[in-house]
Amino acid sequence: MKIKVGFGFDVHQLKDGHPFVVGGVNLVHHKGAYGHSDADVLLHAICDALLGAANLRDIGFHFKNTDPQWKGISSLILLKETVKLLAENGFQVGNIDAMLCLEAPKINPHIPKMQENIASTIGMDVADISIKATTNETMGFIGREEGVVAYAVCLIEKQTSS
Ligand SMILES: [Zn+2]
Repeated sequence: MKIKVGFGFDVHQLKDGHPFVVGGVNLVHHKGAYGHSDADVLLHAICDALLGAANLRDIGFHFKNTDPQWKGISSLILLKETVKLLAENGFQVGNIDAMLCLEAPKINPHIPKMQENIASTIGMDVADISIKATTNETMGFIGREEGVVAYAVCLIEKQTSS
């Protein structure tokens, strides 16, 4: 068995009146993330961790932000496509651990739903998907609610004959 780790990072601007989709959950907030797809910062970081682990470049390489095909699309679809790409290369996802950094709104109540969205999209056990959240203690662009950041790591496995 071959085991590999991957790391992902993503950032999006927050703008007044934009929808705020995180982990496939539509958060009720006066601001939301701005981007080409649904700007789901958590799923983008996870996709990049998965692609990185398999050494398959990054999310922008596979889902170009100039391609109308991906405009406004749910990032759960991008996640599904990413896991399909890994499977085509013989990889299975072991676990995912992700961290969200944002000042508001409170993420904790939404974490079970986010885990469920991810698990059901890519056929994993909820127990293997960890999502955590922290504020930036009011400092910097995250603290001023100008942006939202997510980090993710994952482990992927490939069966080998030897
Ligand atoms: Zn993104």
